[in-house]
Amino acid sequence: MSTTALISIAVLILIAIFILLRIFRKPVIDPNDFKDQWRTILLNEVVYYLHLIPEERLRFERDVLVFFSKVRITGVDTEINDKDRLLVASSAVIPLFGYPGSSFDNISEVLIYKGRFNHSYETEGGKDRNILGMVGDGVMNRHMILSKKALRKGYDNRDKSQNVGIHEFVHLLDKADGQTDGIPKFVLRSKEIQPWLDIVNGEIQDIIEGKSRINPYGATNEAEFFSVVSEYFFMQPDLLQQNHPELYKKLMKIYRQDPAQGLGKLTFEV
Ligand SMILES: [Zn+2]
Repeated sequence: MSTTALISIAVLILIAIFILLRIFRKPVIDPNDFKDQWRTILLNEVVYYLHLIPEERLRFERDVLVFFSKVRITGVDTEINDKDRLLVASSAVIPLFGYPGSSFDNISEVLIYKGRFNHSYETEGGKDRNILGMVGDGVMNRHMILSKKALRKGYDNRDKSQNVGIHEFVHLLDKADGQTDGIPKFVLRSKEIQPWLDIVNGEIQDIIEGKSRINPYGATNEAEFFSVVSEYFFMQPDLLQQNHPELYKKLMKIYRQDPAQGLGKLTFEV
């Protein structure tokens, strides 16, 4: 083999190593990158963060930095600020907080629209502009869209159980096993799936019969039910526990958190 050929092979091997290192690189997170003004925003806007003990706040901040390092957040025809970015990241961090070190791998970008939109992604005019958020499929795979107005409202309305950011990230969590079906297979063992579906279907029936305090949108299907009750679990845990104790217990096991005891409180032993 000629010297030129050997050099070419060596160069190719070096390029391959370089590409592999880039693919498998873990994000390098420096906690000092978390700005003081971000901390103030979280304390003012995210009740969940406010209730964490100091060392858990540091872990939350680290998770936010990991999220920022992996996911782009882009305003589409609308200005977004640090608060919007932090609310998006918080919506991703909260559902996974019982699983230290975990982060979403099935998303690359969150697009922020000004307000409601329709299936043609129109935010002005157009018909049926009633969507507040969605997890993309097909060409929009690895993308999420959130209405800026709805995202902010989810954290403003402290007496409401609705939070579109958490709702959409729970869909993404549900989708992680390949199917958005309301069955979180990342945590439920196969023998636990039917009991979970029995609870879900019983609760959906109660919504249909007007005997439930759960947002009626949860009766759309099992996937919407899972997202809707997860919003309830993180935004008004005490009410959910009081009104739907069995469902609360299941969600506590799924998320490894007991937010009714103080938001963000972890319960690894359940
Ligand atoms: Zn939904």
